[in-house]
Amino acid sequence: MENPVIVAIDGPSGTGKSSTSKAVAAKLGLSYLDTGAQYRAMTWWMLSNGIDVNDATEVATAAGKPAIVSGTDPSAPTITVDGADAAGPIRSQEVTAAVSAVSAVPEVRSRLVELQRSAAASASVGIVVEGRDIGTTVLPDATLKIFLTASAEARAARRNGELTGPAAADLAATQAALAKRDAADSGRKTSPLAKADDAIEVDTTELTLDQVIECIVTLIEEKRAAR
Ligand code: C5P
Repeated sequence: MENPVIVAIDGPSGTGKSSTSKAVAAKLGLSYLDTGAQYRAMTWWMLSNGIDVNDATEVATAAGKPAIVSGTDPSAPTITVDGADAAGPIRSQEVTAAVSAVSAVPEVRSRLVELQRSAAASASVGIVVEGRDIGTTVLPDATLKIFLTASAEARAARRNGELTGPAAADLAATQAALAKRDAADSGRKTSPLAKADDAIEVDTTELTLDQVIECIVTLIEEKRAAR
């Protein structure tokens, strides 16, 4: 039997990575893994347990403690930390503001990369894995690597659309927060956000979500046909 298809989708925040990855996986009957949710879950656990997220030594020492489990069904992805549902709390502003500091710690990355590789290895139907370093570090032998981009304005507008309440009102603040997180994610020493040399870049600024999904599904089908 031919090897299951492995698709790596990387890119900065607000490019539509999650919506695209989930829809592509569902359309093709593949599993789905949101690695950003795992870094958020680690961050939530650190904040809940009184760890100073700006103290890399403290974070490194604690990195092995939480049990993080991701469900890989694209129509209902789940994430638990020590058995508790973490899907809501990992999206809080507090976690979003702290996640880049936690994810820059090498011990955090090595722990989560191991989980990610084992999820990909056990996905017998194939898998779409989204993140920042999937094509460069986690799964360098992926069947297809996509790097999603979009203008800073488009990314902030999309992210603002996902927020509710007073946070949604301030587009400039959203754009500044995204820029800060991207700079931290791109500038860190251990596996920064980067496009793999063999990744296909898709600029989503002028595309609808359906167009992006269609484009990636076509690329996967071409790869499959060529095997
Ligand atoms: O994708 P999402 O915005 O939920 O990711 C949250 C954060 O997790 C990113 O800003 C980044 O700091 C970290 N991350 C990472 N490597 C990945 C996925 C996410 O460092 N593969």
